[in-house]
Amino acid sequence: MPLYLVATPIGNLEDITLRALRVLRESSLIACEDTRHTRLLLNHFGIATPTISYHEHNERTRATELVERMLGGASVALVSDAGTPGISDPAYRIVQAALGAGIRVIPIPGPTALVAALVAAGLPTDSFLFVGFLPPRKMARRARLEELREVRPTIVLYEAPHRIRETIDDALEILGDRPAVLARELTKLHEQFRRGTLARLRQMHEAEPPRGEMVLVIGGHDGSLMDDIPAIPLADEVDRLTADGSVGRNEALKQVARRRGLARREAYRIYLEERMIADDTNEDDCTP
Ligand code: SAM
Repeated sequence: MPLYLVATPIGNLEDITLRALRVLRESSLIACEDTRHTRLLLNHFGIATPTISYHEHNERTRATELVERMLGGASVALVSDAGTPGISDPAYRIVQAALGAGIRVIPIPGPTALVAALVAAGLPTDSFLFVGFLPPRKMARRARLEELREVRPTIVLYEAPHRIRETIDDALEILGDRPAVLARELTKLHEQFRRGTLARLRQMHEAEPPRGEMVLVIGGHDGSLMDDIPAIPLADEVDRLTADGSVGRNEALKQVARRRGLARREAYRIYLEERMIADDTNEDDCTP
């Protein structure tokens, strides 16, 4: 019986596919990175299939065990905590073991953070390099970034919130100031895209450190189409919103700040700068 690799939502439960639900329901066993985590998803959809753990610490032994069960007639669905198994998540060993034993491996495609971030980033999508997580240690991380310096395709990285600042700093130093987008909390309530360049992302980080899960998308070496996109000044966007009088400037600033992934204070500062108005507000008051 086959091994199914089943993609599950990266936040929004509506992103599960009908096929994924059917396969999860009909499989003999669901191998999960974290059985408790996946049980919540299964309960939500009323699926009672038994689960078993399959994670980075038991991959080798569990892969052998699961292959034996599949050879004995069981069908196994592999899921990770979120997104597509095998994408910065365990799957490789069981796929290898299954193929080695002549078992069919069937992908059930669905959400993955890297694709969601890439397609909405506004950077070239015709060719991209998915790097996954950079090494956590500074030396190794910088060495990996050095390898990426001449890469022309768009670069897609996963990063943890507590390391994003260091990653942006190192990338800025090693790759230079390039177009970059930080995609945060994809498909969730507080989804946000911070767009600009690496230097802008650093400024935004200073104004408001990003929280939650995030993907960093960086323009490739000489490969950005961003120059083709006319940049609309923030102040024009604010004034356009307020033009018919139905939205006040304060509200317009709030909306534009949210859209651009800025703190409102930062949006107000840019507004003043673009309109060349002196900032005479005090620290606690950014009301225009
Ligand atoms: N298998 C997953 C996939 O297909 O995207 C990736 C798993 S990896 C262990 C977790 C990383 O994926 C996070 O640290 C973050 O970089 C990225 N990620 C996962 N969900 C995300 C989301 N909703 N928004 C932004 N990034 C996300």
